[in-house]
Amino acid sequence: MKQIFVFFILFQILNCEIQGSNCSPSIQEHAMDSPYSDVEKLLQKTLPDSVAAVILDIYTGEILAVHQSKTALHRSFPIGSLIKPLTACAGLIRGSLDPNDLIYCYRSGYSDFNRCWYLNGHGRVDLTDAIAYSCNSYFRHAAQKLRFSEFSRFMENLGYSMPRTFTPEDEIDLMIGLNPSLKMTPLQILTYLSLFYNDGVLFDWTCEGVPFKKISMPDKIRDLIRRGMAASFRYGSGSGLQNATHQDSLFVKTGTAPYRLGGVEDHTKTHAWTVVFYPGDTPRIGIVIFVTQGVGSKQGIYWAGQTLRILEGRIW
Ligand SMILES: [Zn+2]
Repeated sequence: MKQIFVFFILFQILNCEIQGSNCSPSIQEHAMDSPYSDVEKLLQKTLPDSVAAVILDIYTGEILAVHQSKTALHRSFPIGSLIKPLTACAGLIRGSLDPNDLIYCYRSGYSDFNRCWYLNGHGRVDLTDAIAYSCNSYFRHAAQKLRFSEFSRFMENLGYSMPRTFTPEDEIDLMIGLNPSLKMTPLQILTYLSLFYNDGVLFDWTCEGVPFKKISMPDKIRDLIRRGMAASFRYGSGSGLQNATHQDSLFVKTGTAPYRLGGVEDHTKTHAWTVVFYPGDTPRIGIVIFVTQGVGSKQGIYWAGQTLRILEGRIW
C-alpha cells in the first residue's frame, strides 16, 4: 500500500513539473476500468443535474467517482457552515478556543443580530454539540475569540487566500460561514475536511505549488473535530443519514450557504452541502454533495443518502 502511495506522489510531482503552472488536469479521475465506474454510472442515473458529487480516496487523492464534474471540480461556491470544523481547528490550535467552553444558545427572533439559525435555540452546547448542530451561537463565540489574521494564516497554510479585506462584522460572519465571499470548489472543501481523517495529507489540486503537503495537527484536536462530526450523524444535522446506510457510525458535516451564482446573490435561495467520511470509524473515502439550489441542508442530506445507498449496492 505504501509503495502505491509513494508512486502516486512521485507521479504527481512529475506531472506537475511536466505541466508547469497550467496543470489543473492533474486532478486524478479514476481509470475507465475502475470498480467505481459502476458507481459513477449510477450517480449519473440517480442524481439530478443540479447536484454535484465527488467520491474521493482520501489517502491517495484518486477521484473514485464524480457527478457534474465541471461544478464539482472546477467551480467555486459559498461553503457556508462547512467552514466551522476549520474555524474550530484554527481556534484550538491558536489556543483561543477552549474545548471545555460551554455556550448557551438562546431562543431568538429573525431580527436578532446574533441569532442562531435554529430560532428555538440549541440550549447549552459544547464543541461536540456545536459541530453536530452547526450552532451559530457557539461559533460566533469561537470566531470572536479568534483573530481574523490568525484564521487567515491558518487558511493560507492550507493554500486558501482570503479574497479581500472585510469589516470586523464580516470577518466574524465569514468564520461562521454566513458570508458568501468564502467560496471553494466542492473538491477543495472535501480535501480540507479530509485532513481530519487522512493523517493530514493535503492534496493541491491547482498544482501551482507542491502537489501535496503534510499538515501537522495534534491528535487531540483532530479527535475533537471528529467527535463533533460523529455526533452530527448520531443526533445532529447529519442524523437524517441513519436510515440511508448499514453503518452504525459515520462522520458528517452539513452546510447551508447563502446563494450566489454567477456573482448574483438571491436571499430566497440557499446552496446545500453535505460531506461524509465513510465507512464507520476508520474512513477511507470522502464524499461531498453540493446542491445548487436547496432549502436549508435537507437536500444535501437526501442526495448524500442516495449516494450511500449506491455505494452499499442498494440502488442498481
Ligand atoms: Zn444554536
